[in-house]
Amino acid sequence: MLSRLLQGVLLLHALAMLAEIKLYIDQWQLTLTRDVEFYLQLILISHLLLTTITSMLLPLLLFIHREQQLVMQADRDELTQLPNRRHFLRESSAFMAKNTGSLPVIIMMLDLDHFKSINDTFGHAVGDAALKHVARILEIELRKSDFIGRMGGEEFAIVMPDTTEDEARTIAERLRQKVELQARVVEGNQVNLTISIGATHSSKHNSSDVQVLLKRADDALFEAKRRGRNQIIFNYTPNNSKSVV
Ligand code: GH3
Ligand code: MG
Ligand code: MG
Repeated sequence: MLSRLLQGVLLLHALAMLAEIKLYIDQWQLTLTRDVEFYLQLILISHLLLTTITSMLLPLLLFIHREQQLVMQADRDELTQLPNRRHFLRESSAFMAKNTGSLPVIIMMLDLDHFKSINDTFGHAVGDAALKHVARILEIELRKSDFIGRMGGEEFAIVMPDTTEDEARTIAERLRQKVELQARVVEGNQVNLTISIGATHSSKHNSSDVQVLLKRADDALFEAKRRGRNQIIFNYTPNNSKSVV
């Protein structure tokens, strides 16, 4: 809105200058009539006004632009450009508070398998490229309404609003396959990257606290790792070891 205003002011300024030039050309070599003098004074005042407005608007616009950039930087993970942990938790918690169990919600934790050995074998830069690769797959495969966050290291979290368990199983399996197929080669290196996923759901009958749900998804993820990685585990409860695969 402010940049539109600035464009308008600049346009008015250009028009005032054109009018001034036209007046001077019309009066070339003639003495200025009182009328023309009046109009020239009017134009001079408009110059002063428009210049003042422009000089106030420009720094304000730059300030707003810079502030937007800083907010973006504070909310994004620098490497993958996904929402960082803090932003993800804030946004998904706000959503869960509004949802109050009316729609089924799926929560997933996703972790790259044997990522340390990829770093150790191919170097940190290839590890970084692999993380970016997985982040892009998540962005492409998930819906705009899903919340994705890089929780730290090689762990990502996903909250899928209005998603049934069957749908989530299909989506998780698609993510697993995409990573296995597409991230086989990263920057010319045969890295054979895979992911493990732990998932749980929120409904009217259980907690809608994102931290609690993430812990449950994390328990399922741990079980996926224990069972050999490159797989998905839904609703794993460590206490009674009841799980649905
Ligand atoms: P697991 O299959 O059990 O998850 O094994 P893992 O090797 O993936 O897990 P572990 O926790 O042992 O190692 C995680 C590694 O991720 C160690 C750490 O150096 C690496 N890592 C964390 N953040 C980054 C990053 O931003 N870039 C790169 N290249 N590596 C990272
Ligand atoms: Mg890992
Ligand atoms: Mg990990």
